[in-house]
Amino acid sequence: MTYRGRIAPTPTGLLHLGHARTFALAAKRCREAAGTLVLRIEDIDTQRCKKEFADAAMEDLRSIGICWDEGPDVGGAFEPYVQSGNFSYFLKVWEKLKNAGAIYPCRRSRKDVAAAPRAPHAEDEAAEPIFPPQWRPPAGTGIDLSEPGDYNWRFRVPDGEAVEFFDEIQGPQRFVAGEDFGDFVVWRRDGVPAYELAVVADDIRMGITEVVRGADLLKSTARQILIYRALGATPPAWAHAPLVLDENGRRLAKRSDALSLRALLARGELSSEL
Ligand code: GLU
Repeated sequence: MTYRGRIAPTPTGLLHLGHARTFALAAKRCREAAGTLVLRIEDIDTQRCKKEFADAAMEDLRSIGICWDEGPDVGGAFEPYVQSGNFSYFLKVWEKLKNAGAIYPCRRSRKDVAAAPRAPHAEDEAAEPIFPPQWRPPAGTGIDLSEPGDYNWRFRVPDGEAVEFFDEIQGPQRFVAGEDFGDFVVWRRDGVPAYELAVVADDIRMGITEVVRGADLLKSTARQILIYRALGATPPAWAHAPLVLDENGRRLAKRSDALSLRALLARGELSSEL
């Protein structure tokens, strides 16, 4: 099997040092495997994403020497794949999950879930709120709908089942459905496919064999493995890069503008050192 990797920035801000590390690692692993690297701009949430950030991301990637190998050819450079161009494909994936009975329409918002009473034994106060299983409708709910409509569609997780996978960097991983995460949104009521659905759908469509991304997405990987299963697709290999932290020990976010690649390059940091 030939290795196919991807880098998948979301253009809601400038790339920072954490992105650079993850993407450089993705490029390195791909080169070492003599594979093909794809750039995918994850702009499916068109309200939050901006073309100027997508353009800036490509410029910054090139300036630190990260190139990609595929995409529509525009005069010797490759155009990236753009998630927002594939809405009808995501809709097909929604339909497949719906027909499989894996997802259901739901009126509960993120706020409702956050305000739901916690299980008394919930040890970790900071843990993400779990969708209460008693709110879950009976099996088959929504299967007759032909469009997502203005519902949140949630994935029905197998309560109590451990989702295990091997991470090429972090080692063996284990998350328990219904404890570490609950029924999660795959399609938003504002008509946008949620990250978990869009990313799995695109990784399948692009034939990605290894996903390299930040360790903040380890738990998402467990959710995504459930989506692969519901779609009858084989998951790729996983490699989650350690996160870059700021001087306060917090992970870098798009707000960390001082550590954006642009700012670092403008301050004279050498692109080779970056
Ligand atoms: N687009 C996501 C982000 O920028 C990464 C998704 C992924 O690599 O799976 O955080």
